[in-house]
This record gives sequence, C-alpha cells and structure tokens, in this order.
Amino acid sequence: MTGKDVLKFANEKGAKMVDLKFCDMLGTWQHLTVPLHQLTAEAFEEGYGFDGSSIRGWKGIEESDMIIMPDPSTAMMDPFMQVPTLSLICDVCLPETLQAYNRDPRQVVKKAIAYMQSTGIADTAYFGPEAEFFIFDDIRYEQTNNSAFYMIDSDEAVWNTGRDEGGKNLGYKIRPKEGYFPALPTDSQQDLRTEICLELERCGMQVERHHHEVASSQGEINFRFDTALNMGDKMMWFKYIVKNVAKRYGKTVTFMPKPIFGDNGSGMHIHMSLWKDGKNLFAGNKYAGLSEMALHYIGGVLKHAPALCGIINPTTNSYKRLVPGFEAPTKLAYSFKNRSAAMRIPNSGPNPKAKRIEFRTPDPSANIYLAEAAILMAGLDGIINKINPGDPLDKDIYGLPPQEAAAIPSVPGTLEESLNHLMKNCSFLKKGDVFTDDLIETWVQYKIDKEVRPVQQRPVPYEFHL
Ligand code: GLU
Ligand code: MG
Ligand code: MG
Repeated sequence: MTGKDVLKFANEKGAKMVDLKFCDMLGTWQHLTVPLHQLTAEAFEEGYGFDGSSIRGWKGIEESDMIIMPDPSTAMMDPFMQVPTLSLICDVCLPETLQAYNRDPRQVVKKAIAYMQSTGIADTAYFGPEAEFFIFDDIRYEQTNNSAFYMIDSDEAVWNTGRDEGGKNLGYKIRPKEGYFPALPTDSQQDLRTEICLELERCGMQVERHHHEVASSQGEINFRFDTALNMGDKMMWFKYIVKNVAKRYGKTVTFMPKPIFGDNGSGMHIHMSLWKDGKNLFAGNKYAGLSEMALHYIGGVLKHAPALCGIINPTTNSYKRLVPGFEAPTKLAYSFKNRSAAMRIPNSGPNPKAKRIEFRTPDPSANIYLAEAAILMAGLDGIINKINPGDPLDKDIYGLPPQEAAAIPSVPGTLEESLNHLMKNCSFLKKGDVFTDDLIETWVQYKIDKEVRPVQQRPVPYEFHL
C-alpha cells in the first residue's frame, strides 16, 4: 500500500482517527493518536514529532525531539478501539536528517536483512516464533497477595489461578492438569483462545493451531511463518491481540517466561530457514536432512548463544525458566526432534521446503525485532566462518549423568552473566552496523540499572521461609 492507498482504505473503513504505533527498546508498543485529517500524503514523508526522552532507554531530555514515520504497508483497522481507528506501525527517525534512529528495534532487523543480502548468502530469512503465554484472572495489583506471583509452591499456585469452586461444593475440584492438554471442561480457556485466533485471522495472520500448554492456565497459538520484518510486526500484533481479547473476558495475559514456580514456563521457540532464489538453503543431505550451511548456522548460534541470551532471554525472570525438567533448554546442544536441546531439528517430513531449525532458548520477554536480528547475525557468522556445531546430542539431556552433562556448555545462569557475555562478544552483531556500540551499551546499562540491580536488592517471598 502507498500513502494514497492508505488514505483511501481509511476512508472506506470509516476511520475517524489514526493510531501510530512504534516499538520501544524493550519490545513494548508505544502509541499516539491523530485525527484522520492529520494523515496527509506528506505525513508519510515527514512523519510526526514526539518526545523521545520519555521513552525508556532513548534520547536524553536535552535532545528529546524525535520523529515517527508511518510505514504505509502496515495499515490495518485497530480491532480494539471503540471509535473506528486506522493503525500504522512506524519507524523512529532523527528530526534533523530523518535518518533511522539506531536504537529503533524495527530498523535493526531491517539492517540485519540488508546485511544478509549484502553477503550474497541468502535473499530471504523466514522466522516462525511460538510465543507461549499465561492467562490469569484480571485482578488489581493490590489484591495479589495470594496470587500466583507470590507463590512458593506450585500446587498452591495452581489453585489460585482463578478456578471455579462450583457453588457450595467444598470437596471436589476439577484438577487443572490431567496429562498434557485435556479436553473441556478441564480446559477452561478454549473459547478465549478460539476468539483470539479469529481476531488474529481478521488481522492477516494465518493461524495453524491453538492448544492449552503444559502448565496450568498456559496457552499457545501458532501462526504461519513470515519474513523477518513482517514477522516482527506480526508478533507485536499477536501480543496486542492476545492481551486485548483476554481483557474482554476479564482476564489478563502475561508473556513473562516463568510466572509460576514448579511448572513449565513460557518459551518463544523460533523456527528459521534461509532461502535464495526460491530455494530453501537449509535442506540437504547431512544430519537430519540439513545442509552444511544449516549446520554452520547452528554452529554460529550455539557459539554465540551465551551473548545472545542477553537479548533473547532479556529479563531476570528469563533464567527461572532455563532450568532442567520443564522442556526449556539448559544445554547448548543440537539434536533431531529432541526438546531438551537448545536447537532442535523438527521432523518436518520429506518436503525440503519445510526443512528448518527450531531455536528453543528464546522467551517471549524478548523484543522480537532485536531477537530475530541477533540470532540471524550469529547464524550468518557461523556460515561465513564455517563454524562446526560439533556432534549432535540425541539423548534426554536432563537425564545425563553429571559428568557427561558437565562437558556440554550451558546457557548462562543469570541475566547479569548473559549481559557480561554480550559485552565481551558483540563484534558479530556490529557487522553492517546492525547493532551499534551505542545500542549495545545503552541496552546493557539499562538492563543492569533498571532490572538486575533492583531485583537483586529486593527480598523475595521464598526468603522468608529459609
Ligand atoms: N514451555 C516450554 C518452554 O519453556 C516448551 C514446551 C513446548 O515444547 O512447546 O520452552
Ligand atoms: Mg509449546
Ligand atoms: Mg516449539
């Protein structure tokens, strides 16, 4: 769509307002709204001014004027606003030159794709992220003293996530878990997930399936893969739609990686493949039907994984998920079909078009644009430097004898550790100016000052029981 098409589309849909959305450094959509008459053809060239100093991790107050530039190809009616409102995703630009702002995540992924194309390795990178999530009752923060957030025991958490007691029945309760994903009435979130799927499809995402996930109150909805930038935008829409449909049901959704102790956490596994001239470069005749290029890509991702974790597992809570026994990876190994390995090669059948790898370490607290860009840069580094991923590990890694396990590199144990790896090993991210020094330094400093230290300094409920 061009700017002109967008204006026509907005008029056809009866839009009165235009909502301008952009992604901040941490991965949250921020937005501002203008009346439709402010959306002129020039607005697509000149953008709209806003105060960049109020956005987390961006410009200082002394240089606060910033521009958001709407991307006409992202036009869509916002399904959640009462007054008909057109939605546009924006890039963030500097006011003097209208050049891309180096801390705008959406432009980082654009630069990563341009870098990939400049190497001649591939023309297209496909991404299929699977963000799991928890659905809880929507109660106010002050009332959460007894909620799952404060639980020290998984059973208690299970009983406090909003299950119906059934009138005066004080004895029998429907157990929230009975195997992997039991049917109704155990699964009380079926209609909510279905309604989310319908909304996703109305917004142009092709849903493949939805299901209850392993943990109580946990769900997963998969939609079709796409190119890196489109998928970044789609993942932003996905989180927005999941949260806003849940709100209609009086529920609230969290994408935090480990809200409940002792139960599975939420991952954001990312399926990937590189393509050139319509051909899947990851299909071949090596291990698990992969090409040599795919194995090198895996080598690069696994080698750089400790640094990548500072971006793909970017919260203190992320490391509560990366522990043995909950289908989240702890070891940096690869394997065919094996869900305990960081890199799984799904059994995708005989069609080479479906051949792909699944990186299981990332979680949905990551900024999707930065995560895609960083993983791609690590994989490209693996291809360029022919990094050997070592032997695959076709065993249950959680069950390995301690000595054997100790020989396999682990994911970092804390956010601080990952950020240290990132500071020490970031030259692979800086090629093609994809991640600038300024972005990496700002990111690490922000994470240490606003997340690592504040969490370290606060007592947690479990400490009262020690
Ligand atoms: N919830 C698991 C995780 O934390 C993944 C379960 C699955 O394989 O879908 O990654
Ligand atoms: Mg899952
Ligand atoms: Mg998966």
